[in-house]
Amino acid sequence: MMTRTILITGASRGIGRAVAIQCGKRGWSVGVNYAGNAAAAAETVKAVEAAGGKAVAIQGDVAHERDVIAMFDATTKAFGAITGVVNNAGIVAPASKVADMSVERLTRMFAVNVTGAYLVAREAARRMGTDRGGTGGALVNLSSAAARLGSPNEYVDYAGSKGAIDTMTIGLSKELAPVGIRVNAIRPGLIDTEIHASGGEPDRAFRLAVNVPLARPGTADEVANAVLWLLSGESSYVTGALLDVSGGR
Ligand code: NAP
Repeated sequence: MMTRTILITGASRGIGRAVAIQCGKRGWSVGVNYAGNAAAAAETVKAVEAAGGKAVAIQGDVAHERDVIAMFDATTKAFGAITGVVNNAGIVAPASKVADMSVERLTRMFAVNVTGAYLVAREAARRMGTDRGGTGGALVNLSSAAARLGSPNEYVDYAGSKGAIDTMTIGLSKELAPVGIRVNAIRPGLIDTEIHASGGEPDRAFRLAVNVPLARPGTADEVANAVLWLLSGESSYVTGALLDVSGGR
């Protein structure tokens, strides 16, 4: 299969890391972006290489325009033109009612999950679009089941940020179809990663799994399987899709 160059935001841990390793198994080259955990990013790079691919770790905050531009530049410099982007970096905050949310929390939530994701999507359009010298490609956005469930009493801010990702996916898929870029989103449900600990409840995915028809949390690899399908030519007629990977929840 053709060697491909993929940039994954937030690839040091969780779903992004699982996607990176699966890209490695296909012999692809990966830009492994991370925010602060350099040790985890270095470990992901080693795992991608052990799987048969190439990788480079790139620190950068997706909420900062210069960092986003730099992570695209670093990936291209290392491995050549980017043909796939996984818009994966995202944050939650501790469970809270909207009535108790500070402006600082709201500003950071939307800066990372919305502005950051839009900046990454913008750069993907600029670099991969056939109207701007690119060869086309695939953009996969990480939304969440929260976008349709709303996450009352926990994360209505986070849920709204993911609603924006769904809408961006619909609009951008139509905007970029003529220039050779497919744009899709995955809406994971309860996935066993460290994101729940960063929201203050490490066992959240297991506590809420009783409400999941498949009766368990999902794994990062099960989400990565769907991301790889959307990156690959196997999904060549799929664009603008919002794919639930949520065990039926
Ligand atoms: P995670 O385990 O918490 O990992 C988050 C990753 O994003 C880390 O690599 C982290 O880097 C990076 N990151 C955080 N803020 C960043 C920033 N500002 N700029 C660049 N990178 C940043 O998360 P996850 O569970 O794998 O989630 C990945 C995506 O799936 C997110 O968009 C999340 O909203 C979505 N999702 C997850 C679930 C779930 O149940 N896990 C469900 C639905 C949707 P460091 O290691 O350097 O901190």
